[in-house]
Amino acid sequence: MKYSALKGVHDIFPPDIYTWHKIEGVAKDIFSASGFQELRTPIIESTDIFVRSIGETTDIVEKEMYTFTDKGGRRITLRPEGTAPVVRCYVENHLYNLPSPQKFFYSGPMFRYERPQAGRFRQFFQIGAESFGAGDPKIDAEILSMLKLFFERLGLEGLNFEVNSIGCEKCRPDYRNALRDFFAGRIDRLCPDCKRRYEKNPLRILDCKVDTCIELKEGAPHVTDFLCGECREHFDAFVSLLKLLNIPHAINPNMVRGLDYYTRTTFEVTCQNLGSQNAVAAGGRYDKLVEDFGGPPTPAIGFAIGMERLVTLVKSCSIDGIPAPAVFIAAIGAPGEREGLRIADQLRKKAVWVELGYAGNSLKSQLRRADRLSSKHVLIIGDDEIKSGRLKWKRLSDGSQGEIAISEVYDFFE
Ligand SMILES: [Zn+2]
Ligand SMILES: [Zn+2]
Repeated sequence: MKYSALKGVHDIFPPDIYTWHKIEGVAKDIFSASGFQELRTPIIESTDIFVRSIGETTDIVEKEMYTFTDKGGRRITLRPEGTAPVVRCYVENHLYNLPSPQKFFYSGPMFRYERPQAGRFRQFFQIGAESFGAGDPKIDAEILSMLKLFFERLGLEGLNFEVNSIGCEKCRPDYRNALRDFFAGRIDRLCPDCKRRYEKNPLRILDCKVDTCIELKEGAPHVTDFLCGECREHFDAFVSLLKLLNIPHAINPNMVRGLDYYTRTTFEVTCQNLGSQNAVAAGGRYDKLVEDFGGPPTPAIGFAIGMERLVTLVKSCSIDGIPAPAVFIAAIGAPGEREGLRIADQLRKKAVWVELGYAGNSLKSQLRRADRLSSKHVLIIGDDEIKSGRLKWKRLSDGSQGEIAISEVYDFFE
């Protein structure tokens, strides 16, 4: 019988895993420097949490969620995104009682029942961050600056930040009406999804990827022309701070984001690697979501980064070697094997990566394995070495070699 992974999911193993480690390490360093702390939520949540926050008419909720009923009759969903669970955690644990803003980052798998196609997975990984309790446009700019530093540190080039404001509950209704007026004469030609969106949330039509809908939205009114005074002021301040921080940006009035919960600032980060523009992160402000979840009024903003695409990008522009053993101990004969094992055990106590040759393998095949692992040093132990108490070491990178007392091996390797 042959087993294979399910459609749309993937295993991650060496050497790719080292790129994942690198990205996760840089994220932790850079995000921590801006005061973001890690938060981990469960992979399963009540289905309601996503229906309520992401919005009933979104593709995610309508078509893509992995939802099941458990043995207790509860409706449960594998998280399709990270923001709603973090908000649920923030409200449930009264984290709003701590000094504001509270800033968190997360990383882990998300699940969507996507049609499998290039670059789309049913289990995919995201790194994201959320900041609660600050409505000031300064935090919006700080977050974009943090993202810029993160991607630069990973070697990505040609970064561009597309930004927009989609207004607030006061000014959005006017824009929604203007969009309905605009699409009223075209409704027959919209795709079936957009016909429904027309009634429930016409902003969604701007997100539609169907060709005819893309043509039909040509000339649609811009949300930025409908901002109320406060939203306009917020957006202008945000953009001026991007200039102050030298963050390359373009205002994209068509970027409305697909999820219901966004308010005001939205953004998307693209980079030039791999030839075409690739979106590597997206996010925005969601000033009403904490209240919707039963918390106090709490402005908030966050973003998510798609790991799979980022891994591809980082691999394409990185020259990092993959980790290799510091020491390979080849043994001749049973006493040599025993002594080699003892030395390895000592060195591993200080986290030195040691590999051993195993019985039955000739010295030649042991050394071939040392070479294939790109081991930095090789030690050879046999009866003679045990008798004299001295070992020969060889550095494979430059062929240099020398001798060392067995009693000094522990201090010799880092
Ligand atoms: Zn407004
Ligand atoms: Zn459509």
